[in-house]
Amino acid sequence: MTNLLRKHLEDQPLNYGHGKISAFIAISFGLLACLTAFCFLFPNLLTMPELRSVYNPLLIKVLLFSGIGVGFIAGLCSVFRNPNRLWGLSGIFLNTCAALLASGQIEGSPYEARNVYAGLDYFILTLLVLALVFIPMERMFAKYQQQKILRKGWVTDLKYFMFSHLGIQLLAFFTIIPAQVLFNQWINPRLHQLVSSQPLALQFLEILLVVDFFSYWIHRSMHKVPRLWRIHAVHHSSLQMDWLASSRVHVAELILNRFVGYIPLLFLGFSPAATYAYLIFISFHAIFIHANVRFRFPYLRWMIATPEFHHWHHSSEDEALDKNFAAFLPIYDVIFKTAHMPAHLPQRYGTTPSTKVPEGFVDQLIYPFKKRKKKKAAP
Ligand SMILES: [Zn+2]
Repeated sequence: MTNLLRKHLEDQPLNYGHGKISAFIAISFGLLACLTAFCFLFPNLLTMPELRSVYNPLLIKVLLFSGIGVGFIAGLCSVFRNPNRLWGLSGIFLNTCAALLASGQIEGSPYEARNVYAGLDYFILTLLVLALVFIPMERMFAKYQQQKILRKGWVTDLKYFMFSHLGIQLLAFFTIIPAQVLFNQWINPRLHQLVSSQPLALQFLEILLVVDFFSYWIHRSMHKVPRLWRIHAVHHSSLQMDWLASSRVHVAELILNRFVGYIPLLFLGFSPAATYAYLIFISFHAIFIHANVRFRFPYLRWMIATPEFHHWHHSSEDEALDKNFAAFLPIYDVIFKTAHMPAHLPQRYGTTPSTKVPEGFVDQLIYPFKKRKKKKAAP
């Protein structure tokens, strides 16, 4: 997508009665339906074996054609309401393509075991579930009422979301395997037995405590070490906060976070059930704390990281710089004297003028590794 089209798609108001909401629904449903149909056509290449075992093909087929129907009707509505018929027609075209693709080999070919695959189904499912949960939540309980759904930077953030979900196998390859190779010799099977035999709830709390301590220091280092800051600044470059802004994380930071966060799990040997429960919980929580919601949780705000707590971390106001590093437990910020949560709410987000992160996914990918121009000394 060119920068021109990205700029055109961003910062668009979705007002009622102009056929824009119906066009948005038609195009979104059409795109997701096309991707789902591709998953049916190439299941071995595009879907995750772990998810394939729990799918009900008939249910997915019904949902897919229902989605195509909704997208088609929304496209027609847009054509009649929106003077720019191109968007509505694009939605109709995409839904027609999805119907044609899906009506063929919808049953799919028998599954084969493959070593390399893309998590396209994981991307579609998580995007659909998160959008259905967070878009209505942010509309009903918005902290910034004027903020648009299609705010500035949403296309870039969607690309990050796609990249991290489609490349889930690659990320695991670059994090879990090197950690196992490096630290395998120091793993103590007796310690693993002791830790994994504890009740699940206790293991879950222990993972939170341990991993949060590690992530606090990684995060703080990313703010303090100039080279690491250039990587992490990409995450801080969003000027508006919402659920999708949580996806804006440079691939180098994704790898570093997952590698370092995996080390305590590897050494202590928590059970897979406790580890998966933690990963699902913390992934959802990480999205929630970026959301544009006004919940302040008066009795919990110093016990767990809330949107208020994390929004202060993203604020570019002087009082908020280098504060609130904890991912889940603010107690670490209190202990290490970096906590900041005054009675008022932050009003400005992004990086300070000394850090100029470019717009766009590719430019941001290159940004941390680009040579900085040396400032000329004053005569
Ligand atoms: Zn940060």
